[in-house]
Amino acid sequence: MKKLSVRAARDVGAVGQQVIVQGWVRTRRDSKGGFSFLEVNDGSCLSNLQIVADANLPNYETEIKHLSAGCSVSVQGEVKPSGGQGQVTELQASEIIVHGWADPEEYPLQKKRHTLEKLREWAHLRPRTNTMGAVMRVRNRICRSIHDFFQEQDFLYIHTPIITASDCEGAGAMFRVTTLDPAKVPRTAQGAVDFEQDFFGRPAYLTVSGQLEGEIYATALGKIYTFGPTFRAENSNTSRHLAEFWMVEPEVAFNELTDNMELAESFLKRIVSDVLTYCQEDMQFFHERIDNTVLASLQVIVDKKFQRLSYTESIEVLEQSGEKFEYPVSWGSDLQAEHERFLTEKHLQAPVILYDYPAAIKPFYMKLNDAESSERRTVRAMDVLVPRVGEIIGGSQREDRLDVLTTRMEEQGLRAEDYWWYLDLRKFGSVPHSGFGLGLERMVQAVTGMANIRDVIPFPRTPGSAEF
Ligand code: ATP
Ligand code: MN
Repeated sequence: MKKLSVRAARDVGAVGQQVIVQGWVRTRRDSKGGFSFLEVNDGSCLSNLQIVADANLPNYETEIKHLSAGCSVSVQGEVKPSGGQGQVTELQASEIIVHGWADPEEYPLQKKRHTLEKLREWAHLRPRTNTMGAVMRVRNRICRSIHDFFQEQDFLYIHTPIITASDCEGAGAMFRVTTLDPAKVPRTAQGAVDFEQDFFGRPAYLTVSGQLEGEIYATALGKIYTFGPTFRAENSNTSRHLAEFWMVEPEVAFNELTDNMELAESFLKRIVSDVLTYCQEDMQFFHERIDNTVLASLQVIVDKKFQRLSYTESIEVLEQSGEKFEYPVSWGSDLQAEHERFLTEKHLQAPVILYDYPAAIKPFYMKLNDAESSERRTVRAMDVLVPRVGEIIGGSQREDRLDVLTTRMEEQGLRAEDYWWYLDLRKFGSVPHSGFGLGLERMVQAVTGMANIRDVIPFPRTPGSAEF
């Protein structure tokens, strides 16, 4: 007997087929006429499949009439046209096997709607809700489009290490990786922790970015991307920061900053248009139940040319806006989320790429521009901001001149010997090259309209929280 997903069984083409559908009961409704309706979901789509269970089924009184939300079943039967609302098919059951019961006194996901906060406490059950199911299907589609986009253009998928000894830029505080016993840490004669006795013979951390290693491969193989987990021990409890998140980082040899901008723009447009094409049912759900501006804002990403605004221009815009910001802005200050959101949501009402940031607020590896004046030194950095989320991509053209790079490292107190291999890339066949990082979860937030980043990843890691 052919097994069909709920999604396939809901399709009109399935009518007339004898099939098995397996999933979890959402509701049961008993009809006076001597039969029951079950709504079954298996995660293949947002909608449920309606099962018609006749009273003459052998286990009707003993089992079927006791089914409740959360019970797991296999249903065999014929797919029939349905007169019911919101569906073209239903499954007329000839056999229903109950695999597992879910005591309604105990099962938390009853008809009543729970808040997203409450659902986080049941991270093991929340994938059974409509919202988390829709989020995960869209997240999956985004990941697939990310790979499709790069693979179609012959980028190589490179796996950069998760455990690293180099601190990429101080992008955020790092988690230490160690096998030393915290109760008896070995000490050097000077009293410092003796990392020579640690597993790697040196301090090691969880990566905050695969960029530096990505550059190694881009400057040999041309176009690469990484896509993996990254870690930041930043103690910021915001709706846009996780301690563990997934990042996509393309790096391209011979690309200048303008090429990098174009890559980022076409990349975001592709992801969004794929989601609009392939996740229509889920997107309709987000539009109706989560945020009714979401579809319009995605159409803007697809249709509108992203604006390009230099940091200096954006400071002028912010200074002249008459807007009251919590943090004041002037040339040289880092932009806060409120400033970013003003620029993309109110000022331009479109995605915007800010570029050429002050050198002093950016890491050592970004390419230095010819200075307008000594106090207005800028680097070829870029951030892509989108409405409702703010920064979604951060990137830059990398410094490819050995002498400039060495000076920048000295200025930032970094020791050249720790980065000898990175400097070698500028000694041997150096090329202009650029790349960026997209936070996957920020992208899922932008696409779904989910307000809190904890609700777009299966198991969020945030300060004080790692239960599941
Ligand atoms: P922010 O200023 O928002 O903290 P950042 O400047 O530290 O971000 P980058 O180092 O440029 O971020 O990282 C590249 C991308 O990774 C960001 O544009 C964002 O999409 C994502 N990102 C960065 N930090 C986090 C985090 N803690 N949780 C989730 N995504 C993140
Ligand atoms: Mn950034």
